[in-house]
Amino acid sequence: MSSAPYLCPKCGTNRSRFNVIEQIPQSVRLDMHTGEIIEYISQSDPIQVQYHGDRYRVQCGVCGLIETEEMFLRFAESHPLST
Ligand SMILES: [Zn+2]
Repeated sequence: MSSAPYLCPKCGTNRSRFNVIEQIPQSVRLDMHTGEIIEYISQSDPIQVQYHGDRYRVQCGVCGLIETEEMFLRFAESHPLST
């Protein structure tokens, strides 16, 4: 995760308490009838589309908003902490 400041865009006050959720994709092949996992597919499987979404999601530890890390970073950037 980034080491730049976060600020919650919803409550607008929280800069310090967060839940950082790491998104780790798991590629699977399912039984079409039961939904049971038949096999785990390798990340280098040429047929499987790979996940290119966000590595992290962030939840505000005060109001509960869940958003991309980018949102928290950008809001902090546009509302710097006055010194
Ligand atoms: Zn918040």
